[in-house]
Amino acid sequence: MLIDSHCHLNYPGVAEDVPGVLARARAAGVGGFLGISTRRNEWDAVIAQADAEPDIWATVGIHPHEADLHPDTDTAILVDASCHARVIGIGETGLDYYYDKSDRDRQKASFAAHITAARATGLPLIVHTRDAEADTLALLQAPGDGVLKGVIHCFTASQAFAEQALALGFYISISGIVTFKNARDLQASAATIPADRLLVETDSPFLAPVPMRGRPCEPAFVAHTARFLATLRGETIESLAASTTANFFTLFGKARP
Ligand SMILES: [Zn+2]
Ligand SMILES: [Zn+2]
Repeated sequence: MLIDSHCHLNYPGVAEDVPGVLARARAAGVGGFLGISTRRNEWDAVIAQADAEPDIWATVGIHPHEADLHPDTDTAILVDASCHARVIGIGETGLDYYYDKSDRDRQKASFAAHITAARATGLPLIVHTRDAEADTLALLQAPGDGVLKGVIHCFTASQAFAEQALALGFYISISGIVTFKNARDLQASAATIPADRLLVETDSPFLAPVPMRGRPCEPAFVAHTARFLATLRGETIESLAASTTANFFTLFGKARP
């Protein structure tokens, strides 16, 4: 069994046929889905999807692209929304200096509010980071009350960043990007991530892995990423599936039945 630790089931590309998407994923051995929020106005829909299916869970958060549009989303709002039984994580949040769709100071303020919420609730933080390694680490490393745990999602950062994130106790989630021909650096890093810190994800509907490139990505495709990753790491798909699934339930303890 595999778990898709990061997908957007409410986005165009998969939202049109969620029952079909889920059926194909389950047939491919995907036994769990973490539906990720990116905007305040989708929290209810993402939580409703998790409420409707026992193998879907939800997060609440504001994507760094959306930080400008959510100046009032603070820790209290995140903590309050995360009380729902199916909400098992805080995010996705973080910093994206590649697209710079929101002001960097607003991105940092939003990220800090999410970190405080994760510490306050004990729920894992889902971190999106692009071209912002130093600031991401500075915020994650800043002292605060309560334990901070989480995952660097859709990991594409440097080996040095991976090592620092691992040192903080974070997990690292690998998406279909690892299957791309030009992803040599990522492939090298992915091969070295400790087996007990690795997760897999699709980030559906984005980033379809080889050999599905060019199509909307759906959670079933996490099997392609997992198979590629297992070969890369010199392990069997069964062992990678077992460890990444166990890791998911260790990190997202609230998802345990
Ligand atoms: Zn992301
Ligand atoms: Zn995402």
